[in-house]
Amino acid sequence: MWKWLGTALVLIIALTIQACAPKAQDDCGFVQNVYGERISWKSDVPVTMQIHSSVPDSMVPAILSAAETWERTAGRKLFNIVQYPRYSGPINPHKDGVNVIYLMNTWEDNRGSEQGRTSVYWIGDLIKEADIRLNGADFGFYWNNQTLTRAAKMDRANSAPVNIEALVLHEMGHVLGLKHKDGQGSVMATYLASGDDRVHLAGTDQTALQCEY
Ligand SMILES: [Zn+2]
Repeated sequence: MWKWLGTALVLIIALTIQACAPKAQDDCGFVQNVYGERISWKSDVPVTMQIHSSVPDSMVPAILSAAETWERTAGRKLFNIVQYPRYSGPINPHKDGVNVIYLMNTWEDNRGSEQGRTSVYWIGDLIKEADIRLNGADFGFYWNNQTLTRAAKMDRANSAPVNIEALVLHEMGHVLGLKHKDGQGSVMATYLASGDDRVHLAGTDQTALQCEY
């Protein structure tokens, strides 16, 4: 009798645990949490993003254009880019509850080939914060055939510039929860060549976006 009861209890506990574990999902191009769920902002959009005072005014139209490109596909507002006032204070991207775009004038020497980086913080399957760093130390940037900035590092001052809209478009994909996708012309490809005007979403990016937005 007791033995039977023990077995039943174990079975009930096992079934309960099974019922509580989140169901793994197809990645659909998104980063997944430890349970295999896609991470995103869910209905918590638009994402309010501040622009740090390190970003020159000349880059703002490119940032707005990148945001609009994602929004056109989603058919809804995804970003609320705050142009004024600029986010001021030290250039110190960290988990502070504010989403900020920074133009960095220093960058780790051993990561000098990286043009940008987005840090994403999530709880469960919900993104809570994302910060974009643009590598202004090793790269210069252009938009609409105009050079906007040169690399801050003296020995990199003549490096071939990168399309700032193409870079921000990619980093904003990370803000939304997307991971790297190489091939099929995706804007989420790991590498962006200098001079590559990759400012339009590929079919694969549109399909991915629509899984969560
Ligand atoms: Zn990336």
